[in-house]
Amino acid sequence: MYSVRKLFLEGDIPMNCYFIERNNKCFIVDPGYYKERIIEYVKEEGLEVIGILLTHAHIDHIGALDCFPVPIYLHELEYDVLFDDYKNGFEFFEKQKSYDLDDLNIKTINEDTLLKIDEYEISVIHTPGHTIGGVCYKIGHDLYVGDTLFEGSVGRWDRPTADLSQLKTSVLKLIEEQEEYIIIHPGHGNSSTIGTEKSINQYYKEWKYEFLNN
Ligand SMILES: [Zn+2]
Repeated sequence: MYSVRKLFLEGDIPMNCYFIERNNKCFIVDPGYYKERIIEYVKEEGLEVIGILLTHAHIDHIGALDCFPVPIYLHELEYDVLFDDYKNGFEFFEKQKSYDLDDLNIKTINEDTLLKIDEYEISVIHTPGHTIGGVCYKIGHDLYVGDTLFEGSVGRWDRPTADLSQLKTSVLKLIEEQEEYIIIHPGHGNSSTIGTEKSINQYYKEWKYEFLNN
């Protein structure tokens, strides 16, 4: 079977890096910081990394992008965010990337892309709003939501390429269309479920009300 593997990384902005693992092969979701720590974890656990999945290209999700020489997947609309230091936050935080993007194997995806790990499929759900090309990755009953949805909250919409009306649509789409038992794994904070968010998330409630009354 499978388990959710989460590596809490305490950088400037503490974040969750995840490993989607099947039979010791894995995808890394959002290697935010601490390349050595990620490499050490993979070694200790005897994993073989087959790819890196980005929910979006903000600085706190891509700091260790060169941790393994494997394909890096991100939404086609997010490509520009990855390469533009104004849009991805490197300029804002006055940091430099520790790698050259031209040396990395970057592959763009969209909702038609179907990724596989052994016989399991990972589907891509485009959820713009926090950034223009933000996505969620779904495998089984687990949904990796990046910074679109948090336990009791949602992602911020005040950074470059963010769009509040798109974020509202994405959050409503996730909570309305996904089954209540689906477990969400956000880029920051605790995991939750779609059902829990449906009953406690004030942003969802407010936006749903707004949607119904417009
Ligand atoms: Zn973000």
